[in-house]
Amino acid sequence: MTNNPWLDQYPEEVPHSYDYPRQNLAKFLVHSATAHPQHIALDFLGKKISYANLLESVYRFANALQSLGVRKGDRIAIMLPNCPQGVIAYYGTLLIGGIVVMTNPLYVPREIEHQLTDSGAKIIVTMDALVERVHKAMERRPLDYTIVTSMKDYLPFPKNVLYPIKAKKDGMAARIEYNERVLSFVSLLKNAADTPVEVSVDPEEDLALIQYTGGTTGFAKGVMLTHMNLVSNTIQAQLWCYRTKIAYEKYLAALPFFHVFGLTVLLNQAMYIAGTLILIPRFQIDDVLKTIHKKKPTVFPGAPTMYIAVIHHPEVGSFDLSSIQICVSGAAPLPLEVQERFEKITGGKLIEGYGLTEASPVTHANNIWEKRKQGSIGIPFPDTLARIVHPETGEELPIGEIGELVVKGPQVMKGYWNRPEENERTLRDGWLFTGDLARMDEEGFFYILDRRKDMIIAGGYNIYPREVEEVLFEHPDVEEAVVAGVKDPYRGENVKAYIVLRKGSNVTEQELKSWCKERLAVYKVPKIYEFRESLPKTLVGKVLRRKLIDEENEKLVNQ
Ligand code: AMP
Repeated sequence: MTNNPWLDQYPEEVPHSYDYPRQNLAKFLVHSATAHPQHIALDFLGKKISYANLLESVYRFANALQSLGVRKGDRIAIMLPNCPQGVIAYYGTLLIGGIVVMTNPLYVPREIEHQLTDSGAKIIVTMDALVERVHKAMERRPLDYTIVTSMKDYLPFPKNVLYPIKAKKDGMAARIEYNERVLSFVSLLKNAADTPVEVSVDPEEDLALIQYTGGTTGFAKGVMLTHMNLVSNTIQAQLWCYRTKIAYEKYLAALPFFHVFGLTVLLNQAMYIAGTLILIPRFQIDDVLKTIHKKKPTVFPGAPTMYIAVIHHPEVGSFDLSSIQICVSGAAPLPLEVQERFEKITGGKLIEGYGLTEASPVTHANNIWEKRKQGSIGIPFPDTLARIVHPETGEELPIGEIGELVVKGPQVMKGYWNRPEENERTLRDGWLFTGDLARMDEEGFFYILDRRKDMIIAGGYNIYPREVEEVLFEHPDVEEAVVAGVKDPYRGENVKAYIVLRKGSNVTEQELKSWCKERLAVYKVPKIYEFRESLPKTLVGKVLRRKLIDEENEKLVNQ
């Protein structure tokens, strides 16, 4: 792989290229468990699981899957918050050449059904509190098996102990009726062999993950990530940002593993260096601050909203946050004042990076050891090339000009699952067209300016307007609907719906909100509604979303 030309400005000791072992992604865990069996791999609500114990559970899960008939290339959906069972299901699936489909636990049946159908998943691994929604989704799209766990079920094996975890009231669900298709996660592990198992994969070709990301068609599309895509991005992110190979880093795992950002910069990275993951199943700022105070994590990658929540907490001063050394912020722009205040409060470094699901996800980051620039996403990782091109012609633009960011590297996806026409548009000669507008300065630092695509980022969640608009359009009283992101100081953006109602209708904002809530995950439901007589359109009748956003921005300026 060619080196990044911008790295030439860095001293000799900063590696310009890394070695990427051609291996199954799950080998990170196997190697760490072999070399450091007694290191703590997972810390979940105070219960600790060593690498040896984790690997044993993973082998059991892999054997159990094989006895259920799972073969290489089969898709296994995992719909869980960050918890040991999710980690076990993930690596167990990978070891036998299965493909993981991470499913957002906030999804409603309609969204789950799409993901299960599109990916062709055979099995879903979920928890009691989510089973009702999963089974509703499966009415029209039955799967071979549902494997159900509970926050109460607790590992590790082989001690064969089920540790009771104090159950939070809202996390619990009705008793599950197990049968030949609905299986208990714990019983499966108990009855499975713990013998090592591994199915050989071609790391460059075989998929580890089909990761769903919002699409222009209204529904999410699957991004195909190979074992090597994820192995290389894990190594790039670890060595570029933390510079360590084997350490005793403790990762605060607040980013969810159902997004590839959390998977790469937390789960895979920790397994790579035999670090400890402090699992946060749900981001609640009080709990997070208490956890940092008590568990002393050294690394806290996150989305800007997480850091905003920390700095705005009224009692932030009463917690000891000094253990935090390095944080990498991604997913959305990091406001300058957030970076500065967070660093002042913790004494650690907060650096900005950039990525997208299609690149496993990270392509750029600042390097705190050498040079960083505020407001910039940094320079491309070693072995990663990046250019700014004209959005229409694809021609490379001179330094300083704004265009579309395109990237190339070992972390760039194989393509979209079953969407050849999207591949043609997005992948050209190995270059990934990111859809983000950016510029590059004379030192090779990149700055993201806007999104070419219309995605909204609210509270760290990505929302695709088209999907929300389609739900609004289905409402019998809605004549026209357009959804856009409007600026919000805390959440980055809020989802706003502009609605034209049918003549004579008097449907209320509340009714539309309930309609959306039934059909969309809560973070996608518009928070603000504006009823209009008409919407601004182009000559061919396309609604000018951009114009609406500009109007909102003007309102802010004039306030
Ligand atoms: P996803 O595929 O969910 O990871 O979303 C990727 C998108 O998030 C990118 O295409 C960008 O639009 C946005 N994004 C990620 N990191 C940043 C950042 N540091 N600044 C601005 N936007 C970002």
